[in-house]
Amino acid sequence: MQTVTILGATGSIGCSTLDVVARHPQRYRVFALTGHQRVETLMQQAKVCMPRYVVLADESHYQKAKTLAEEMGITADILCGASALEDVASASEVDIVMAAIVGAAGLLPTLAAVRSGKRVLLANKEALVMSGSLLVDAANQSGATILPIDSEHNAIFQCLPRDYAYGRLADSGVTQILLTGSGGPFRTRALDTFDAITIDEACYHPNWSMGRKITVDSATMMNKGLEFIEACWLFGVQPDDITVVLHPQSTIHSMVQYTDGSVIAQLGEPDMRTPIAYGLAYPQRIEAGVAPLDFATLTSLEFSTPCQQRYPNLQLAIDACREGQAATTRLNAANEVAVGAFLNGQIRFTDIASVNEETLNRLEPLSVSSLQHILEQDSSAREVANHIVRGLSSC
Ligand code: NAD
Ligand code: MG
Repeated sequence: MQTVTILGATGSIGCSTLDVVARHPQRYRVFALTGHQRVETLMQQAKVCMPRYVVLADESHYQKAKTLAEEMGITADILCGASALEDVASASEVDIVMAAIVGAAGLLPTLAAVRSGKRVLLANKEALVMSGSLLVDAANQSGATILPIDSEHNAIFQCLPRDYAYGRLADSGVTQILLTGSGGPFRTRALDTFDAITIDEACYHPNWSMGRKITVDSATMMNKGLEFIEACWLFGVQPDDITVVLHPQSTIHSMVQYTDGSVIAQLGEPDMRTPIAYGLAYPQRIEAGVAPLDFATLTSLEFSTPCQQRYPNLQLAIDACREGQAATTRLNAANEVAVGAFLNGQIRFTDIASVNEETLNRLEPLSVSSLQHILEQDSSAREVANHIVRGLSSC
């Protein structure tokens, strides 16, 4: 029996994780669930899986959660705040931590899980983009295992040799990592209509059902940019080792090309329960509730190269990746501000890339090493990005 903490239980990944866990009551027990605003959902989840702790990100919904717990007969201790999130991520009783908080808010509890040597199922890509070296170094020191949950990285992990040594692509006969992306909902939309893209249009993804921030990131392809950076940290590879390939059907979740001409791909339905189940049970395989691919109805697999003009955020992310940690920390922060402003109706869809680019341009290059440095870069980039947003929204 393994004990699991789910950070971000009320989100899309959190709910899928609970679904997989519930299929295997003899293997997994939930230790803690955390959430932010959807307190009713969180308490419903707690009623079903009876964790020891339920943690709210801050105090705003704490009293409501306490009242609901009493009404619903939930015996879990209800906690709130940043240190409680870190405590349930690092508690000695916990074996596995699902890191599924969205954005930079997930960094500290994820780092706490890594520092305490857990098996960390990493969905929260922003944490790695923000502070890749810190997480990788912490895992090396504590012996934590970071397993990728992002479907592309999970696919790459599955396609690399089992004895792959971090950073040693050539030693494994690998020539390229082929990172696939669907291109989102605007892959064929006329470029001169991009200014008019609405929030609802950007919050619809043709293949995947996900939280709002990642869905908008998929539409701008910043998601693929963040994944490009994520892949560098997860596998210890360089930007030149990765090629982004557009694949609108999302049937292939990514591929690895070998020196002898072989390409190994991982295929499946676009359902996050597959990588979640893989991460939970690795190296075993367990049932995930996912329908098998039906090759009788699978008619075509298309591929192309992403157009830079259509997806300026992708290139920004690749450039930031080449520049280094400070640039990726700042880009992630700027993008969180820009996507939030777009979702609030303050800026246009096309302004997201402008805010990101302008934020990077306004900050001097520098090198960052400590957590303190990284948090400072994150907050100064947010300040700059917010300033740019205010300028754009007053136009
Ligand atoms: P979501 O918006 O559906 O859920 C986010 C979760 O984070 C919720 O539980 C929410 O309560 C919590 N949260 C939000 N702000 C918080 C804060 N300030 N403090 C603490 N908790 C907070 O998002 P999602 O789609 O489940 O994505 C979660 C993460 O997984 C993201 O980093 C995303 O990029 C990554 N991811 C998601 C998918 C997917 O299919 N949804 C695929 C790959 C990677
Ligand atoms: Mg992905």
